[in-house]
Amino acid sequence: MTILITGGAGYIGSHTCVELLNSGHDILVLDNFSNSRPESLDRVKELTNKSFKIYKIDLLDKAAVEKVFSENEIEAVIHFAGLKAVGESVEIPVHYYHNNITGTLILIDVMQKYNVFNLVFSSSATVYGIPQQVPISEEFSLSATNPYGRTKLMIEEILNDVYVSNNNWSIALLRYFNPIGAHESGLIGEDPNGLPNNLMPFISQVSIGKLSELKVFGNDYTTPDGTGVRDYIHVVDLAKGHLKALEKIVTFNGVEAYNLGTGKGYSVLEMIDAFEKASGRKVPYVIGPRRPGDIAECFAKPDKAERELGWKAEKGIKDMCIDSWKWQSQNPEGFQTNEHRNKYASTLKS
Ligand code: NAD
Ligand code: UDP
Repeated sequence: MTILITGGAGYIGSHTCVELLNSGHDILVLDNFSNSRPESLDRVKELTNKSFKIYKIDLLDKAAVEKVFSENEIEAVIHFAGLKAVGESVEIPVHYYHNNITGTLILIDVMQKYNVFNLVFSSSATVYGIPQQVPISEEFSLSATNPYGRTKLMIEEILNDVYVSNNNWSIALLRYFNPIGAHESGLIGEDPNGLPNNLMPFISQVSIGKLSELKVFGNDYTTPDGTGVRDYIHVVDLAKGHLKALEKIVTFNGVEAYNLGTGKGYSVLEMIDAFEKASGRKVPYVIGPRRPGDIAECFAKPDKAERELGWKAEKGIKDMCIDSWKWQSQNPEGFQTNEHRNKYASTLKS
């Protein structure tokens, strides 16, 4: 199958490209590199020993998107492209709505024009808003607490409407929980711009010495140790979920949502402990106030994905931390330079 991957140079996209290529699929990547670097795709090629076309295109440029469809026999699209920083989405909501929603509308329009109706969309557990209970199943009511979350929720609703208008569509809405970790080779991983927003890249950068300490956002939640609990999922397991979703959508018409999580929750303190064990380094931290908008606990009921997609997360918290550390220690400057990578790698134990 020839699959177009929007946002394929990004964190989850690059890992999914590896899994798709290793499974014998042909891929094309479309990315504007607004939050990624072309080097990630060089690494994907190095890892898989396979080549593929890369289009440096903005999804908002409809003519350019059309050209990609006219030049290739695309059978399915995995749509990762989008902006994802919650805090930034509060500061520049119009930019988020335009990029994520208009970008998706243009993609859908062009797909319909070229009779491509198979779509896997990157949604998020954020569409459950403040869940009434855990574990969270797909039937829970949906809401959003910030502009980023609203883009995901709105796109889910738009895709439902699109299917109602044209029953040829086959759409999987994949609601990711908290992706962390990296490819076990240490060649690709998460490379955030500036100060990381998320826990795992923050912990990694403290461990490598780029940041002095982690601030734990609150220890007075109603959780076993008082710190926030999340469902961390290895990015390679998540990537494999996309292959299973692709296999599924070619067998039905409709729109189906799937939680991609492990079903287990870990607290911030448990994550610090697991990371210290994996890296052999201390993670200095201080307890700070709660982060506004954070919820106490969030973890998935992943049964639907297991039942209907035949997918289940396999890697545990230890692998997630070992692989995050391998990526961070081999690439202290992310994808920026190999020179740095080699210099640091020789001074660190792996
Ligand atoms: P990422 O930022 O690493 O990857 C997104 C990619 O999309 C980047 O390469 C970026 O350059 C590209 N992009 C953004 N806007 C574009 C546009 N207009 N045209 C072309 N390319 C564009 O993010 P990620 O962590 O890999 O996330 C992938 C998707 O999964 C996103 O839609 C995100 O919202 C969603 N998601 C991520 C998480 C997470 O914690 N990482 C959790 C839930 C959902
Ligand atoms: N967190 C923290 N310090 C940080 C970043 C995150 O204590 O610097 C906590 C956060 O409060 C939450 C958990 O770590 O309980 C996961 O946060 P992240 O931003 O990675 O994911 P999200 O909250 O979006 O699920």
